[in-house]
Parts: sequence; C-alpha cells; structure tokens
Amino acid sequence: MKKIITIVGARPQFVKAATLSRQFAILGVNEKIIHTGQHFDANMSDVFFDEMEIPKPAYNLDIHGVGHGAMTGRMLEGIERILLSEKPDRVVVYGDTNSTLAGALAASKLHVPVVHVEAGLRSFNMQMPEEINRILTDRISNLLLCPTDTAIQNLKNEGFDNFDVKIVKNGDVMHDAALFYADKAELKSDILSQLKLDKFVLSTIHRQENTDNPENLKGIVNALNEINKEISVVVPIHPRTRNILKSQNIIPHFRLIDPVGYFDMILLLKNCELVLTDSGGVQKEAFFFGKQCITMREQTEWIELVEHGFNVLTGSDTQKIIDAFHAGLSRKSDFSLNLYGKGEAARIAAEEIVKLDI
Ligand code: UDP
Repeated sequence: MKKIITIVGARPQFVKAATLSRQFAILGVNEKIIHTGQHFDANMSDVFFDEMEIPKPAYNLDIHGVGHGAMTGRMLEGIERILLSEKPDRVVVYGDTNSTLAGALAASKLHVPVVHVEAGLRSFNMQMPEEINRILTDRISNLLLCPTDTAIQNLKNEGFDNFDVKIVKNGDVMHDAALFYADKAELKSDILSQLKLDKFVLSTIHRQENTDNPENLKGIVNALNEINKEISVVVPIHPRTRNILKSQNIIPHFRLIDPVGYFDMILLLKNCELVLTDSGGVQKEAFFFGKQCITMREQTEWIELVEHGFNVLTGSDTQKIIDAFHAGLSRKSDFSLNLYGKGEAARIAAEEIVKLDI
C-alpha cells in the first residue's frame, strides 16, 4: 500500500483535495494530510473539511499572517520535518499557493516524487505570486496532472518535453467537486432563504493585484456600487479584502457577507444572475453552473472560457466592468460544452499517482 502525503493550506486546495481523498480511499491508499494553516478561520477551512468529508489533517503547521518569504520558509521547514519522519512514497500538492511551492520543494530535495495537481496553468504575469509558485512547482514535480489542453501546451512551450517528467491531462478536479456536491448542497444549504435572496449577482474579490492596489480596489468597488443600483450585489468577502476596505476607507454600498462554505457557495452560484470575480476557481464554477462570468483581472489561466465567450476580462476599470455586466446579462450561451472533463479527473489523477513508476 502506497503512503501519500497531501499538502493543503488554502480554501481552493480543500475543494480540490476533497475529490482526490475520496479516490485514494477507494484505492486503499494510505493518505495523510498536512494542513499548513495558511487559511485558518473556521469559515475558510474547517467548514470545507466537514462538508466535503475530507479526512482530518494529521498535521497542522498553523503558519499564517506573515509575508510570503517567512510563510514559505516556515512551511518548508515544517513540511521537511514531517516528510523525514513519515517517509511517504509520494507528495501531492495542488494549485499555486505558498503551501504548494513549499510542499514541492521540501519533497523534491528529499527525493520524494512530487505530484502537481492543476499543473501547466499560466497567466504569463510574473507579478502574481501564484504564477511564480506554479512555474517553480511544475519544474520540480515528477507527475504533472493538467486540467486542460492549454495547460499541456504551456508546458510544451516551456520545454517540458525535454525533462524527466510525466505529463497527463486528467481534466479539472473542481469540476468533479461541483458535480459530486451539487445535490448535497441543495439539501443542506438554506443560504437563499437565510439571506432572503431573490435576484442577485454574485461577486468575490481577493486577488492580491486587486486588494493590494487601492486604485484597482476602488475601481472594482465603484463598479459594484453602480451595479447594485440595478440588481442586488452579494459578496462573500475574503477576510483580507475586508481588512483592506476598512484600512483604505473604501465604502461598499452592496451586500458584504462573511465567507461561506462550499455548499452555500454552490447555491449562490446556481441561483445568481451572473458572476463577477477575480478568483480562479469561481470563474470555472460560474461555467459549471451555467452563469456568465466577468473576470476583474487583466489575464486568466482559464483562457478557454474567454475564447468560447463564457467569460470576459475587464481588469479593474469601473466602466469596463459595468459595460461587461450589461452585455453579460443579455448574452445567451450554450454551457454544455465539455471543457473540463466528465467528472473523472480525480479518479484518473489517483490512478496515475498510484501507478507512477519511480
Ligand atoms: N468559495 C467558497 N466560499 C466563498 C468563496 C469561495 O466556498 O465564500 C470557494 C469557491 O466556490 C471555490 C474556491 O472557494 O471552490 C475558490 O477559492 P478562492 O476563490 O479563494 O481561490 P482561487 O480559486 O482564486 O485560487
């Protein structure tokens, strides 16, 4: 039986890891989870473990609230210590956070094979901490599990065919999650009645390029304030964004709510009129649940959504966001296109991880 260490730390990683944990259990794999502690509030962390029935982390490093360098460094040290005592057969990391890079780096230096789930994604914006984390993690991984053809092509363009690494297109594990939990969410979530929601648009804002640049944040908030005059805007607000709005004295006139759990989020996605976001995952979830999306960034890693007209990039420009909102409300799209697999991404991933021959 293979021993696998899974490393997670941030909200999107809990959603992704949930799908693989279920497959590992089916395959009889001994999985132990390290939670780095990057996201620690109950509604940013525990709720995902509870709702999605993710095995309780065997370790919690409790590292948060420090800068990128200190965070990555402390994680590297903590993860290395655990890997030395656990001696796993593989380490699995997800996405593009500091936890991803620290996990991959600790494992590769100890010659433990590294698996990167959601490999090959690129924004081509090296100002983004996530872009740096992705590129470096891909380069030191042994198995790259790619969600899309674009991701595979990105790796080829960077010369990955010349490296000793296995590259597999498995599809998108977040699509698996959306399919698997959608019915459960309907049964468990009462967010619509709780918030007395009728017609609304859903928005999330947390990307550093928006939160850490007051002009960008003001541009977005002004747009959402205007849109809110036409249709109610609901924003489950990331704790960091809430703090910055306060410290910068930027006043939203729309509805801010605390971050919600995954089930509530599914209900909000299913029932909103349209999505405005700077999140990576939420862009795809808008598509999964048949909603037009406006991405308040200059680039996206999920370029196929833009190419097929499901998603429009606006950056943080107030007028561009408002115009895209009006255009999006009247646009009709066929969301049946298969861009992210058939809900088997996690099964394919788990099987590839187990049979990896190193
Ligand atoms: N999410 C959630 N509650 C919220 C906001 C987001 O459950 O209040 C979920 C969302 O549905 C998606 C994941 O968190 O599955 C995305 O995380 P986030 O937007 O923080 O990160 P990104 O995808 O940009 O890396």
